[in-house]
Amino acid sequence: MTISFDDAYTMTINGEPATSNAMFEAFNPASEDVIAMVPAASRAQLDEAVAAAKSAFPAWSNRPIAERQALVARIGEVIEEHAEEFMRLLTREQGKARAGAEWEIFGSVIWCKEIATQVLPVHVVEKTAGRTVETRRVPLGVVGGITPWNFPVLLAIWKIAPALVAGNTMVLKPSPYTPLTTLKLGEVLRDILPAGVLNIVSGGNEVGAWITSHPDISKISFTGSTATGRKIMESCSGNLKRLTLELGGNDPAIVLPDVDIEETAKQLFWAAFQNSAQFCVAAKRVYIHADIYDDLAAALVRYASTIKVGDGSHEGTDLGPIQNRMQFEKLKDLFADIHANNQKFLLGGDIPEGPGYFVPITIVDNPPENSRVVSEEPFGPVLPLLKFTDIDDVVSRANNTEYGLAASVWGKDIATARSVAERIEAGTVWINEIHSFSPHVAFGGHKQSGVGIENSLEGLAEYTNAQTIVTRNDMQAIA
Ligand code: NAD
Repeated sequence: MTISFDDAYTMTINGEPATSNAMFEAFNPASEDVIAMVPAASRAQLDEAVAAAKSAFPAWSNRPIAERQALVARIGEVIEEHAEEFMRLLTREQGKARAGAEWEIFGSVIWCKEIATQVLPVHVVEKTAGRTVETRRVPLGVVGGITPWNFPVLLAIWKIAPALVAGNTMVLKPSPYTPLTTLKLGEVLRDILPAGVLNIVSGGNEVGAWITSHPDISKISFTGSTATGRKIMESCSGNLKRLTLELGGNDPAIVLPDVDIEETAKQLFWAAFQNSAQFCVAAKRVYIHADIYDDLAAALVRYASTIKVGDGSHEGTDLGPIQNRMQFEKLKDLFADIHANNQKFLLGGDIPEGPGYFVPITIVDNPPENSRVVSEEPFGPVLPLLKFTDIDDVVSRANNTEYGLAASVWGKDIATARSVAERIEAGTVWINEIHSFSPHVAFGGHKQSGVGIENSLEGLAEYTNAQTIVTRNDMQAIA
């Protein structure tokens, strides 16, 4: 099937294209040009999408799992077939440079293919001559997926693949800032999936709220900010929806004194600035042992100075702009606070006027622990470096946050690094590497970084209910 990635963008409702009288603009963040008009779903259209998913559920959930797995693997193949168009469109709407777009699109392909191999085992608790007790997993019904603007395709796939393998149908809403790649995903899958199995609706935050309060939706899988996560949790209470929330983070990196300075500087750079730091698990506070602070800070600045920030579609660009004006303005406000408090910049610090939401790579020298740049999630390329001398002190500073998404510890002495890692309150702690994700490894936040797990069999299980079947086999004995 030939699909143009340059023409109109339509929603997918019950396997059909759907547009709207109400349209909103999508922008290229590198130029601020309007690149498309996007339909805003009406309440009636959202209801139609939920009804389509509901009526597709019995047939889809009754299909043998092998057929559902094959279709989810096929989603991966279709993305691969259109990889070039997806990457170009992703750069145009999200801003990320080529390497980042490749990571996201081919990551999505891998996720589909790998999640398609997963099966939740039946747990046989008792099997005797007279009695069998087993717990199996059954799908929930219609799942509502809501995604953010930093990794629009990959984070949609993290929801679509397990929801569908587990036997659910779905209504998915991308962020209004990055709807285009998700709408195209719906379009390329129209001929692949049975009508109603995957519905894609676009629109503002109100469409998200309609989804989370909808009585015919059984579960919400949400990735986004902690503030929105709280609202969603409240809204889901109406019909006691199941809930997976992947939320914000303020991830600490702790650098012990025995690291290799140059190598660690390079690793820390990407740990912090990948995707222009619009990354829930970016290293957002780097605690460096005082003995190596000056050398490591200098090495980090040297490496950072070689990185090119620019239009992601241009050859040679390493990092793109901030994705949207709302986030750009938030960063301007944070930079103003750093200036107003006379904190010292080791690199960057001044945000140029547009066009384009460009923020320079910025490194701040040992600001106070309670400063905004340390205590908030900046979600942009500004990194505070902080000094420590005592392990107990740095662990307590690392844990002094409402967040608990991820963390990293860097040091040659693995036993020491491990003992620090075990004391960090976070869902993932990497030692001497970072941002290695897998469809088979559980990922989820502690504290206010989330509820539940994505990826792994544990993540797949979140798209199901447990059902225990107790069978009395020795009917003659009863008679
Ligand atoms: P956001 O919470 O503003 O929006 C996310 C999505 O929620 C969008 O689709 C939005 O339209 C929708 N939404 C907004 N209000 C809603 C409501 N009341 N009801 C239902 N839906 C609503 O988040 P964002 O700014 O798009 O994303 C950035 C945040 O996402 C950061 O905090 C980041 O750390 C977090 N994030 C977390 C992970 C993770 O896996 N933990 C991954 C990526 C991003």
